[in-house]
Amino acid sequence: MHNDWPDMLFTQSPPTLGNQFDDDPLLPSWLQRHLPAPLRAGLDPELRALGALAGGELYRMQQAELAHEPVLTQFDAWGRRIDQVAVSPLWREAERLAAQHGLVATAYEPALGRHARIAQFLKVYLLHPSTDVYSCPLAMTDGAARCLLAMGDQALIDRTLPHLTSRDPAVFWTSGQWMTETTGGSDVGRSETRAVQDADGSWRLYGRKWFTSAVTSQMTLTLARPEGNPPGGKGLAMFHVEIRDSAGRLNGIRVDRLKDKLGTRKVPTAELLLDGTRATLVGPPLHGTRSIEPMLVVTRMWNSVCAVSFMRRGLALARSYARERKAFGQPLEQLPLHADTLAGLEAETWGAFLMTFLLVELNGRAERNEIDDEQRSLLRLLTPLTKLVTGKQAVAVVTEVIESFGGAGYVENTGLPQLLRDTHVLPIWEGTTNVLALDALLRSDLDSGLAALMGRASACLRNVSEPRMVAAIRQALGALERAALVLESGQEPEVLQAGARRLALTLARALQLTLLCEHAQWMIDHGGDRRGYAAAMRYARQPVDLMTEVDPAADRLLLG
Ligand SMILES: Cc1cc2nc3c(=O)[nH]c(=O)nc-3n(C[C@H](O)[C@H](O)[C@H](O)COP(=O)(O)OP(=O)(O)OC[C@H]3O[C@@H](n4cnc5c(N)ncnc54)[C@H](O)[C@@H]3O)c2cc1C
Repeated sequence: MHNDWPDMLFTQSPPTLGNQFDDDPLLPSWLQRHLPAPLRAGLDPELRALGALAGGELYRMQQAELAHEPVLTQFDAWGRRIDQVAVSPLWREAERLAAQHGLVATAYEPALGRHARIAQFLKVYLLHPSTDVYSCPLAMTDGAARCLLAMGDQALIDRTLPHLTSRDPAVFWTSGQWMTETTGGSDVGRSETRAVQDADGSWRLYGRKWFTSAVTSQMTLTLARPEGNPPGGKGLAMFHVEIRDSAGRLNGIRVDRLKDKLGTRKVPTAELLLDGTRATLVGPPLHGTRSIEPMLVVTRMWNSVCAVSFMRRGLALARSYARERKAFGQPLEQLPLHADTLAGLEAETWGAFLMTFLLVELNGRAERNEIDDEQRSLLRLLTPLTKLVTGKQAVAVVTEVIESFGGAGYVENTGLPQLLRDTHVLPIWEGTTNVLALDALLRSDLDSGLAALMGRASACLRNVSEPRMVAAIRQALGALERAALVLESGQEPEVLQAGARRLALTLARALQLTLLCEHAQWMIDHGGDRRGYAAAMRYARQPVDLMTEVDPAADRLLLG
């Protein structure tokens, strides 16, 4: 009898994931609207296969490996320094899949023209949440490829691009991006790494790189100060480094330790000592922070896609659970307040998706030179804005997802805490929220960026006829106009900086609302689906204009 009693107790079934392509509520209409039918027909089977993998085999592997962590072995049995890092089985599988499905390569395929970035990032969007942040090395790989192409060093392009953009797992390389030092990741101009030129003209690097993710990569781009150069970002230069030689020996690099991090725990983020690392100068021996910019444009786009993809994953799990879990005699999804909570998260996710894929589309155009001046101005402003707003939205949405599971959301082996922790990195790396807000608002071409943003929002107004959505777009345009007035009012630099985050978020949220209305109208006009309308109206209920009075003196008083 004793053995029988547990069977009488209730056991909750866990959330399940279906095909992440077929189940996505927004993808079908977005694809129909933005991709030509033949391209869509060509892409659909691969996206469906990735959706099945992400919701099936990879998700199961991920749940089975929750406790796995990368291991650094610094010495072999005989005392020889080896600094080998072993990663999880899922990471090895993700590397193979990434190469085969061209998660980097697709962006460089000429046949896809200006849609190449869209095709690439649809795959990333589907796969990312099931790969334990393997997107991190992929983002840097893509960024390095784009950066090397921009610098135009043909020998380096010939040496690296066939690896970085390969679909053959045996040939595929990933790249790191070593910028952050102990002196700072935001203010990299303070970097201490020295570049010394030998008599034969070759370069060696000496210094410490403090956060280097994906230390298992084959190469990296990094910054160092050639001897005799001035201080600050201007005195840095960009270098290419191959991490091991053909015998597998590290190139004057010591892996001091792996970081013990809040999240992204499957990503081997290392502290490195560079001690005579052979390096190749890329571009001029100055202005390294400028040289590495194209890499950041790409990694910030990856960050935005990964943010919206984590939001979608959180919601897929939360909605599955809400169908299964009962409280007060009903499934959670039938409880008005629970439904209201999840609907708010859906609306945020739709808004983030539309802004992010506008950024992706514009980048695809820019890379194929199919972009006009106004779109280029919009793209420059959108890169920091999208990264900063989606990072914040992802943390907010996934935090709420955790609560939607009640206590189960707080329990490690549900996998949910890992999702929350991994999401928390998104506002930090590739530029923090504050740093990107300043980057967006203090740029010399802000005027043209703002005009382009207003232009895009006004175009949405012209495309919408439904009266409540017209009113919502007017509300967004009003917020944009107020933001423009603030920026034109010649504020003291201190006041402008103190208010920059709220101002940047206002621009971003206003754009998201207009894009939501535009897409919603398209959905109504093409089949009568009113889910987009529901998302837009739900989003419109949140404040768009986040600007408040700024008083730096009062802040100083408060902070003592
Ligand atoms: C998991 C992980 C992996 C990483 N991987 C890599 C990697 O592979 N390569 C790499 O180069 N870096 C990597 N980083 C480092 C990351 O890019 C930096 O942590 C980030 O850029 C911030 O730099 P910092 O840590 O030095 O913080 P700081 O620059 O010291 O910033 C501290 C705080 O000050 C704020 N702040 C700074 N300047 C301003 C300003 N002017 N106005 C207002 N606020 C400001 C910031 O917003 C932040 O909140 C990684 C970080 C993490 C967490």
